[in-house]
Amino acid sequence: MNIILLGPPGAGKGTQAKRLEERYGVVQLSTGDMLRAAVAAGTPLGREAKAVMDRGDLVPDAVIIAMIDERIGRDDCAQGFILDGFPRTVAQAEALDAMLARRGLELDAVIELAVDESELTQRIAGRFTCARCGAGYHDRFKPTAVDGVCDRCGGTEFVRRADDRAETVHTRLAAYRSQTAPILPYYRSHGLLHTVDGMAPMDEVAAAIDRELAVATAAGD
Ligand code: AMP
Repeated sequence: MNIILLGPPGAGKGTQAKRLEERYGVVQLSTGDMLRAAVAAGTPLGREAKAVMDRGDLVPDAVIIAMIDERIGRDDCAQGFILDGFPRTVAQAEALDAMLARRGLELDAVIELAVDESELTQRIAGRFTCARCGAGYHDRFKPTAVDGVCDRCGGTEFVRRADDRAETVHTRLAAYRSQTAPILPYYRSHGLLHTVDGMAPMDEVAAAIDRELAVATAAGD
């Protein structure tokens, strides 16, 4: 099963992608995670992307398309993948179609997590992850059970993303509105778009995604 998760920053794409990975045995391909890994490793790609990401702007299409094209060709994608944070422009969506066609692959569904933009800034501003195992938390919506201790691995070091500051979130939301939202009609016209309410509690969003995927795979689209 090959799926795209679409939605603005803070919509819950990463959280839902991780759950889908476990449930369907597909692999999460997060372009944001790949870029952050490149930044942390100090590769030429990371050095090029860092300033753009810190501003909240989009990394050039050609860079992202080459990165995903290489990634989709690896063995672990054979069972399917969830694209999280890609495509983010119409040019990326068209390039994805071409790279899937070249490999004889198809998309099963594009799931849009629809959220109220006014909520997003506070959702994003409270996010943090365990530095050791990567488990995701939120100051208000999903705190650790014991203050300062990761529920999953017991780690006590946590990190916050540099681009989760309120000023940067503004730019990221503007980029979503102007550059990413135009791909929604593209997928709607291909009969692939399924919209779920991303404002519902996490488990309800997950259940709604499962229902939409059941519809999508039964319809063979
Ligand atoms: P994310 O973790 O998906 O919110 O991505 C973090 C940042 O990485 C974005 O604000 C962009 O600067 C960059 N980025 C991630 N995915 C893409 C993409 N598909 N196209 C362009 N830039 C991207």
